[in-house]
Amino acid sequence: MKIGLAAAFLIGASTLVAQSTYVLKAARLFDGSSGQLTTPGSLVVSNGVIQSVGGGNAPAGAPVIDLGDATLLPGFIDAHTHLSDEFNPDYNGDALLSLQRPISEKAIRATANARKTVMAGFTTVRDVGSSDFIDVGLRNSINAGYVPGPRMLVSVHALGSTGGHCDDSDGFRYGVFGRETGPEDGVINTPDQARYAVRFNVKYGADVIKTCASGGVLSPTDDVDVPQLTQAELNALVDEAHTLHRKTAAHSHGAESSKRAILAGIDSIEHGTFLDDADMRMMHDRGTFLVPTLTTRVGLAESKFPPLVQEKATRAVKQQDAMVKRALALGVKIALGTDAAVYPHGDNALEFAFMVADGMTPAQSLMAGTTSAAELLGLQDKVGALKPGMLADVVAVPGNPVDNIKATQSVIFVMKDGAILRNDRAVPR
Ligand SMILES: [Zn+2]
Repeated sequence: MKIGLAAAFLIGASTLVAQSTYVLKAARLFDGSSGQLTTPGSLVVSNGVIQSVGGGNAPAGAPVIDLGDATLLPGFIDAHTHLSDEFNPDYNGDALLSLQRPISEKAIRATANARKTVMAGFTTVRDVGSSDFIDVGLRNSINAGYVPGPRMLVSVHALGSTGGHCDDSDGFRYGVFGRETGPEDGVINTPDQARYAVRFNVKYGADVIKTCASGGVLSPTDDVDVPQLTQAELNALVDEAHTLHRKTAAHSHGAESSKRAILAGIDSIEHGTFLDDADMRMMHDRGTFLVPTLTTRVGLAESKFPPLVQEKATRAVKQQDAMVKRALALGVKIALGTDAAVYPHGDNALEFAFMVADGMTPAQSLMAGTTSAAELLGLQDKVGALKPGMLADVVAVPGNPVDNIKATQSVIFVMKDGAILRNDRAVPR
C-alpha cells in the first residue's frame, strides 16, 4: 500500500484508481504529435501512464472502455486561466464582492472552477495570476487528490508596475488599504524589485512567472497598449525567473511592450492584440509563443463596464482576428489559452473554434491546445500527446473533431493521470 501511494503521488494521481489498467477504444484517435487521425483508435493505460497505442499489449482481463463513435485525444491544455476568479458581468459589483468575500470562500469557489475546467476536458492549465495564494493551495489540493481539477502550473501574483494592469489596488482611493502595494503584492518599480518579486513568488510556490508588460482591457486606470515596465525591469525579471528554472509569460497588448518582453527573452506573449510585424518576426525567429485568448470576447460582450473599460474592450476585440491571421502568416508559434474567468469557466473549448475561424485548420487548433501548449509549459515529455510513456491524460469527443471542431465543446470522457473523472457513455449496471 505504501508503495502504491508513493507511485500515485509521483505522477500526481487524483485517486488510487490510477493504479488500474484500462483499454480505451473509440472510432478514432487524434495524435497531438503528428496531427493525424488514426482509425480505429485504441490505447492501453496502466498505473497512470500510457502503455501502448494501437491495441498491442492489452493485458487479459483489463477493463475495456469502448466509447463508440467518438475520438480519443490528449487531455486539452489551457495556457492562460485564472481559476481563483470567476466571470461576473457586473464590473463594479465584482470589484466590491472581491473585497467582501472571505479568502476561504474564494478558495472554495475556486475548487468549483477547477472541477468545471477538468470536466470540460482541460486536464492541464497554466494559471497566470491569482491573489492570496489561492492558486498554490488549489494546485496542492488537486495534486493530493482532495478535489478534482486540472494539473496546474501556478504563478502566485502577476508582476507589474504601480498603477499598471496587475496592481490590484487600481481604481480605489489612496490609502483605503492602509498601505501602497509593493513587491509582495506583485507590484514592482525597479529591476531589483523585479528580481525580489520573482524570488518571493518562487519561494511561495510559483511554477511560472507572469508579468504585465502593458496596460489591459479590464484595468480601470490605464491605456490598453501602453508599456508598463522598462526594458531593464523586464530583463531582470526574465533573467531571474530563468535562473530559477521558471518560464515566463507576459500579458502584453501593445507593440512596444511586446518588443521589450520579447527582447528580454519572454517565453510567451499573452493576448498580443496590437503586435506589429517587427514583433511577430522576432517571435518567429526566437520561438516566442503567442497565446491569443480569443474567447475573452464572449465575456466582454456580456459585461457592463465603465466607459473607459468599454472603449478599451471594443478597440481590442476589433483588432484580435487580424492579428492572429497575421501571426499565422508569419509562422509565429501559437498555444491555446483563453483567459478563463473573463468568460465562464468550463467554456474553454470555445477557443478551438475561434482559432479555426481565424484560419487555423481544426488539426492545427487541436495541436495548439495539446502539443504546442505542452511545449510552452515545458511539459512536452509528460502531456499533450498520446504516446507510450506519457501521463494518461485522455479525453474523448463525439464524432470527428477534424470535421467539426465544435465537437471539442461536448467532451464525453475525461481521464487524468489514469483516473476516470467523466464517462458519459458508461453502460449502467
Ligand atoms: Zn489573464
